[in-house]
Amino acid sequence: MSLGKAETLSLLERQQLIDRAVRGAVEHAYHHAPAVREKMDRVGVSPSDIQTARDLEKLPVTTKDELVSLQKANPPFGGFVTIPVSKLRKICTSPGPIFEPEAGDPLERAAVVVKGLAAAGFTAGDIILNTFSYHLVPPAHWIDEAVKVLGGVVVPGGTGNTELQVEIMKELGVNAFVGTPSFLYALLQKAEDRGYDVRRDFRLRWAFLGAEMYPPSLRHILEDKYGVDTLENYGTADLGVLAYQCTEKAGLHIGEENLLEIVDPATGRQLGLGEMGEVVVTTFSPTYCLIRFGTGDLSLITDEPCACGRTSPRLVRIAGRVGDAVKVRGMFLHPKEVADALAPFPQVAAFQAVVGRQGQRDSLTLRLELREEVSQEDFSSEVLKNIQERCRVRADMVEFVPAGTIPEADKRVKDTRTWE
Ligand SMILES: [Zn+2]
Repeated sequence: MSLGKAETLSLLERQQLIDRAVRGAVEHAYHHAPAVREKMDRVGVSPSDIQTARDLEKLPVTTKDELVSLQKANPPFGGFVTIPVSKLRKICTSPGPIFEPEAGDPLERAAVVVKGLAAAGFTAGDIILNTFSYHLVPPAHWIDEAVKVLGGVVVPGGTGNTELQVEIMKELGVNAFVGTPSFLYALLQKAEDRGYDVRRDFRLRWAFLGAEMYPPSLRHILEDKYGVDTLENYGTADLGVLAYQCTEKAGLHIGEENLLEIVDPATGRQLGLGEMGEVVVTTFSPTYCLIRFGTGDLSLITDEPCACGRTSPRLVRIAGRVGDAVKVRGMFLHPKEVADALAPFPQVAAFQAVVGRQGQRDSLTLRLELREEVSQEDFSSEVLKNIQERCRVRADMVEFVPAGTIPEADKRVKDTRTWE
């Protein structure tokens, strides 16, 4: 698979391209999207103040809740769309509810999907079962546009109808699946229930998965048991697909169609490479001008070279939602990250990370309930090492507690600081 020019730009070329796109997007939005002009006027920032991606810090982040209220106050799109409603091609919705405008160019939202499907192993003529919902929400439609560009065949399966979809996959020799990991799993289980051997009776080679968390345990089943190569993508209904996995499966390459910042959700300040924070997106769309839209998702970015040859920076992983995380010594600690760090230790029956304050320093204690006896000193040091590597926060100590000590309803990352 040969890569497009945009996928192999040098770091400097990429920076220049992004800075130019940011400048253009802000200038355009200021003059054509009243909501963006209002936001910039409110903080006294003019388009000429935004010359680079770094300068976006001068503008406040717009949250999903704010977008809902802005749309209510100024229907239907809250002042972010630059063309008359009658010129749109499609209007979808997403939870909120939020109206999602789609403008004239079908590829505006599908461009990153094209890259993602190509990276996932698409070959012309592939028959793709698209199981995202076609009703009101946009993702299934982006997939269809992208498959059209790449010269494939879509079977618009939509959601549900598992038995019928299993038969369709078999009879048509479907090569690829698009949808959520859990629905793919449901289909393959249904196929087995009906007496099929997935590897023998189906031609399913790869899957383009998104829209929900994809635990390593499920990846193991789909890939190793059923032989389906699974590639993830990341996006939101408001912004489209933003990042995709290549076959190296080492993070998700960020498409050049948007700017992704990682910011401290409390201040909106940009964080450095490798630091965990909220994903904030600026679209370069000329018709739907979301400048600094907060996704509420936690992630971190690396720009280390990827073996696939693409030079785009990558989201290392999606670590969870901002609201569930607790900040410890300036770093976000998320329950899912702690769980992932403890996954290699089957001896752990339950855990709770307790954030406290000793002197003027945050403390972090990891409480563990165990299923079996361990050598506590060795076990502690191995666990602490994994926590540090995965969560990038050093825990001070492990406290072994008797089974049943950690209340089931209690938070798995608990903040006990009082700030008195
Ligand atoms: Zn790659």
